[in-house]
Amino acid sequence: MKVLKFGGTSVGSAERMQHVADLITDGQQKIVVLSAMSGTTNSLIQISDYAKRDNHAAAAEVLNELTRKYHLEIDALYATESCRNEALRRIEEFLNQLRKLYLMPIGEQVEKEIVAMGEQMSTNMMTLLLQERGVKATLMPALDFMCLDENGEPSLPLITEKLHAIWSSYKDYDIVITQGFICRNHNGRISNLKRGGSDYSASLIGAAIDADEIQIWTDIDGMHNNDPRFVANTKPVPQLSFEEAAELAYFGAKILHPTCILPAKLKNIPVRLLNTLEPSAQGTTISNTFKQGKIEAVAAKDGICAIRILSGRMLMAYGFLRQMFEIFEKYRTSIDLITTSEVAVSLTIDNTDHLDSIVDELRNLGTVTVERNMVIISVVGDLNTQNVGYEAKVVDALKEIPVRMISYGGSDHNISILIRAEDKTRALQALSDNLF
Ligand code: ADP
Ligand code: ASP
Ligand code: MG
Repeated sequence: MKVLKFGGTSVGSAERMQHVADLITDGQQKIVVLSAMSGTTNSLIQISDYAKRDNHAAAAEVLNELTRKYHLEIDALYATESCRNEALRRIEEFLNQLRKLYLMPIGEQVEKEIVAMGEQMSTNMMTLLLQERGVKATLMPALDFMCLDENGEPSLPLITEKLHAIWSSYKDYDIVITQGFICRNHNGRISNLKRGGSDYSASLIGAAIDADEIQIWTDIDGMHNNDPRFVANTKPVPQLSFEEAAELAYFGAKILHPTCILPAKLKNIPVRLLNTLEPSAQGTTISNTFKQGKIEAVAAKDGICAIRILSGRMLMAYGFLRQMFEIFEKYRTSIDLITTSEVAVSLTIDNTDHLDSIVDELRNLGTVTVERNMVIISVVGDLNTQNVGYEAKVVDALKEIPVRMISYGGSDHNISILIRAEDKTRALQALSDNLF
């Protein structure tokens, strides 16, 4: 069986939803994971942000706009009065909850409940549409099986167990619709897999049911060789290995959620990135196949903080790095890049929640300097250290740009470079010009 995920733009209007309904109705059984209609998650976050600041008038305005949008789309979506009325009834139930929730004191939990409504609304609308068309379709609530462990990470064993336990109620349907993004935490409260998390939902479900294929349908024809939001004339990459795709996703290629490749890789399930607007385009296939002799793509990750620890105590000493890493471990902050010299270490983090405490403790080890607003550029492809000259091409492309760190040799398929945010577009363009 295949798992197909459609992102926000793909279900962003009545017309787009009808198009998805056409695409998925081919007689083959499948699980379909949907995002919220595009813009909805942002609006829901806005509502809870305004409410948190007691700006109820502004929250109400966003909510009214959302209500207007859903009424319009529902009007256009269905052919029959009865389905239109049923959809309106269901959506109004969510909107009514929202009308109550945003007037309550908004803590983290209420915020999560508000943000979870987008996917619940889109999946209800799509299920009704398919049923109206006579398709054997049903809704399988993600909140019945998608769950996090005590560390706030999705638990594949538990998800697998829960999904298998409920599957007998769904196995006779042709199309089983479910929500991306939303889940329950280990206490059973509503939570989510972070922004863009519907991709992750799809790959977790794919891994849990040992799917034949996971398809991520979006608004572009696959993974491009550079970020199309910043660079002109980017091209789709037909084939990527799991490692390359994971690296690109983690280092900023927005088309994929940062960690969504891991479950697919674990179960060796091919992931295809496809374009809803151009379904016949080849897209990108991500699998165990690794293409040699080629630099495939470039991505950029924003919001990076660089930390340098300079210490005479490092010289000829052992145990220094352990002491340093323990501080990051204590604050559950992961390190992305690291470079060392005999007397200093530079590293990067993207989670700065505990930066002050980390820096305070690092000061016991040496002199600490912090630079914020940096960007990691990641170049991905066949970067085996035996391939002479590949890294030179990358460095040569960046000869006009101040480079703060370079990390090479950590794996066979990546070079990462740290630069200032203001140089990002120029660096991405220069890499495209030189490499592709
Ligand atoms: P969805 O809503 O379907 O999940 P996203 O907006 O999350 O879609 O991801 C698709 C977008 O990712 C594209 O429209 C594109 O602007 C952006 N993007 C960034 N980097 C890349 C890349 N390397 N290849 C393709 N798309 C990319
Ligand atoms: N709706 C969520 C978001 O906008 C999840 C997703 O679309 O993947 O981030
Ligand atoms: Mg996305």
